[in-house]
Amino acid sequence: MSSGSTGPSEPTGPTITLVLGDITEQHVDAIVNAANSSLLGGGGVDGAIHRRGGTAILDDCRRLRASLPQALSSVRAGETPIGKGLPTGRAVATTAGELHADHVIHTVGPVHSSSEDRSELLASCYRESLRVAGELGARSVAFPAVSTGIYGWPLDDGARIAVETVRETGAGTSVEEVRFVLFDETAYRAFEAALAAQG
Ligand code: ADP
Repeated sequence: MSSGSTGPSEPTGPTITLVLGDITEQHVDAIVNAANSSLLGGGGVDGAIHRRGGTAILDDCRRLRASLPQALSSVRAGETPIGKGLPTGRAVATTAGELHADHVIHTVGPVHSSSEDRSELLASCYRESLRVAGELGARSVAFPAVSTGIYGWPLDDGARIAVETVRETGAGTSVEEVRFVLFDETAYRAFEAALAAQG
């Protein structure tokens, strides 16, 4: 079940496409995973990606965990200390195993908080994933609605941040298509509205 809708793209940025469906069925260069900082798998989209992609992804995640100081070019002030997993807002790539993609890019979304504005961390997930995708030479990238499931981010706001951040990236990426893969109609409509609102 999938239906597409292509929004107007910035002349120099990636085309944004919306798909209603399952991200593990997408044929793209890179699939983004809404992971947790352990990188060892979890529920939601993370569980689905590991199930469909097979054990090669987890094997790669384990290797990556062991080499996180090298895998990340720098550690920023206030981030989770290296050794405790991937900091929120950062992204790293592994094999895509048996998925129809070359890479899985794992990013750790922030848990939503009503007392603290963590929008910048959510924006960072999209920015960092696109940066990693660019480094890999990926031209098409599929994103789920990061943080909008178990991590509790309101869909409308999560969609706004996702679309805004990809738009702001503009010519700063070699990625040509960003495909948001939305698991249900509510999520699809939220992204549709965010695209329409941002022209
Ligand atoms: P988080 O912990 O970042 O909130 P979740 O996996 O719980 O991550 O949810 C993120 C979003 O991914 C939610 O909108 C959820 O409905 C959606 N989702 C869950 N499974 C899939 C899937 N197979 N394909 C695409 N999106 C999915």
